[in-house]
Amino acid sequence: MVYLNEDYKKAIELRKKGLSYSEILKCVPVAKSTLSLWLRSVGLSKKQRQRLTDKLDTVFSRFKRLMSGGYCKRCWLTNKPKSNAYKGYDRLQNAHCHSRVKRSVRWDEDNVAPLCGGCHMYLDREYSAKQEFFLGLLGQAGFNALNERANQKKQFTIEELRRKIEYFKARIKELQEE
Ligand SMILES: [Zn+2]
Repeated sequence: MVYLNEDYKKAIELRKKGLSYSEILKCVPVAKSTLSLWLRSVGLSKKQRQRLTDKLDTVFSRFKRLMSGGYCKRCWLTNKPKSNAYKGYDRLQNAHCHSRVKRSVRWDEDNVAPLCGGCHMYLDREYSAKQEFFLGLLGQAGFNALNERANQKKQFTIEELRRKIEYFKARIKELQEE
């Protein structure tokens, strides 16, 4: 019984840190049904949400930069010859059309463009240039749709955040296998 109690305490502690069921099961060897019974009482803490948000930010940023193939989107559109646009995956920064404060589009693929440091700094300084750049990138219809999504209020559930992390992880894996 003492052993069980230790498992219980450990499971609760890990859940509060924001670990998922499958992550907890790797450390605490009990049936999933038992675990779910134990964790029913544990509220979704702020810390847990923060941990998932951070993780999703990292995975999403990596995905977008990998998608770009190492090219700055703005240099790619404006520079000729295009070979000048290659900056390398690690040297790209993600520029946001709408600030990351807007949760509804924080992990929206259309809201983010990988840029070189110079282009990023320039667009963050020049509001109208940034609008024009994203308009050119997405086209009028895509740009309007993004603005509409940005104006919606959205609080993702813990489960939605987890699903998004898994989704972008899978996309990264696909890109790396190509
Ligand atoms: Zn650039």
